[in-house]
Amino acid sequence: MDNCIFCKIISGEIPSSKVYEDDKVLAFLDISQATKGHTLVIPKEHVRNILEMSAETAETVFSRVPKIARAVQKATRAMNILNNNEEVAGQTVFHAHIHLVPRYGADDGIHMGFDEHEPDFAALADLADSIAKEVTE
Ligand code: AMP
Ligand code: ZN
Repeated sequence: MDNCIFCKIISGEIPSSKVYEDDKVLAFLDISQATKGHTLVIPKEHVRNILEMSAETAETVFSRVPKIARAVQKATRAMNILNNNEEVAGQTVFHAHIHLVPRYGADDGIHMGFDEHEPDFAALADLADSIAKEVTE
């Protein structure tokens, strides 16, 4: 796709530090290296993010993640695997990608957490029902 930086990486128009490639998937080092070894796994098909991904493309991309992650994690057994969908969720490049972020310890510069809330089991049941109704092929 024109003007997509990751499509340009796939075509070779822009250089990248490749760690894995096959006919459908490419993995390369993230230029910002949140931690040493920070890698992105992308489908070669241009798709905006996981919300717009077909099951077939998801299967293709995610099926490669464990073996690439195992290669990336040679230095450490801990790793966060992340994906951002849409700007509010932190997506800045609109070609789907999965972040593999090796973790080295509490002081490795990665800070993640969720606010915790007291569970409201009735509300959880209603919410689960309303989401379940929306699940389609
Ligand atoms: P996200 O914020 O989830 O959309 O992540 C986009 C990631 O792409 C960021 O972590 C950037 O550092 C990374 N990135 C942007 N341009 C390049 C590039 N030319 N080569 C490698 N990584 C890139
Ligand atoms: Zn693209």
